[in-house]
Amino acid sequence: MHHSLNNRVAIIGAGIAGATCARLLCDAGFEVEVFDKSRGVGGRMSTRRSEWTDCDGLIHTAHFDHGVPGFSAYSPNFIEFVKQAHEKSVLARWQPRMISDQDQINDETESWVATPNMSAWCRDLLSDSKVTFTCNIHSLIRSASGWTLQCAEETITKTFDAVIIAIPPLQATSLLKPHQPDWADHAQTLIQQPHWILMGVTSDVSPVLNWELFRPASGPLSLIIRNDAKPQRQQTPGFINWVIHASHEWSQQHLESSIDDVEAALKIAFSDTLGYPFNWHRASVHRWRYASDLVVKDILCPDLHLWQAELGLGVCGDAWGGDGVEGAWSSANTLASRLIKPDEL
Ligand SMILES: Cc1cc2nc3c(=O)[nH]c(=O)nc-3n(C[C@H](O)[C@H](O)[C@H](O)COP(=O)(O)OP(=O)(O)OC[C@H]3O[C@@H](n4cnc5c(N)ncnc54)[C@H](O)[C@@H]3O)c2cc1C
Repeated sequence: MHHSLNNRVAIIGAGIAGATCARLLCDAGFEVEVFDKSRGVGGRMSTRRSEWTDCDGLIHTAHFDHGVPGFSAYSPNFIEFVKQAHEKSVLARWQPRMISDQDQINDETESWVATPNMSAWCRDLLSDSKVTFTCNIHSLIRSASGWTLQCAEETITKTFDAVIIAIPPLQATSLLKPHQPDWADHAQTLIQQPHWILMGVTSDVSPVLNWELFRPASGPLSLIIRNDAKPQRQQTPGFINWVIHASHEWSQQHLESSIDDVEAALKIAFSDTLGYPFNWHRASVHRWRYASDLVVKDILCPDLHLWQAELGLGVCGDAWGGDGVEGAWSSANTLASRLIKPDEL
């Protein structure tokens, strides 16, 4: 058991930032509880599962990594962390056969995916923490005995010594406002770009398809991925599972369009881009309101996280750590160190 003032820690958000904090703090002997508003772990690093029926009436299961498709590791510390997950077979190298608009097949820079789906890494990192799902934390109350959390869906009676907020900045502002108004003002400036995703199943078009990842240089789409060709993904003979990213510009323009309109428009864009009339067996769209890439990039937090030791309040996530999975991890890693080794910083 860790003996410090901040022993009982609540983490809001079970994405890669929250899950990394949870793992590092659990390993250091803290008592950690994680709360997430959705029904599963991973946040923007997760996988959608759905069932669909083919024309013979057979039911199939399809998986779509509808958030981050894969990520790269650059800093030595992150590479080491990734290596450990690779050794446990939680992460695998992903080197898709890639094509650009110039019709060349290229090798992508080395990237990583979790296996057998993107949520698996966060699930592994959270394996020693208590996680409460479907729990949208809408306010934090600070009293002499510590922090209590308020959630619309259930009553949380426990008191915590410290709270870590690991959610996108615009969602964090209302939680921060009563306690650290300057942080809330800062968070409001960190605007992340939206992203519409089309995911679905078509008949196999292998004769016209010799690639697994395609980056159109222009038009409504920015990325087309054959999801079932990623490492250890389930394949259904005769069919292909696609994850198709609309560009940030297109997503911004269609941010408030209806789901039906977006699905129809992206299906047309997909067929037009590939010059092939696809037969869809199942399709749906997902809107990430705060997906990735800060609109204004020059106000990153110098410590990669925020921490107020007297209050026992911290904030981490990709927007503070420098974008993407590695940014989210770096932010969580530096914040966890503040709690684990308070005298070193
Ligand atoms: C379409 C797309 C493509 C991307 N492409 C790349 C890429 O190529 N490379 C790359 O490195 N990164 C990419 N990213 C970005 C990457 O996914 C994120 O940077 C990273 O996953 C963020 O992790 P996080 O833990 O900071 O936040 P999140 O993953 O957003 O986790 C936050 C969690 O908090 C929960 N939550 C929010 N509010 C509350 C609340 N009030 N109460 C309780 N729970 C709450 C959410 O449900 C979520 O689970 C992409 C993201 C998207 C969406």
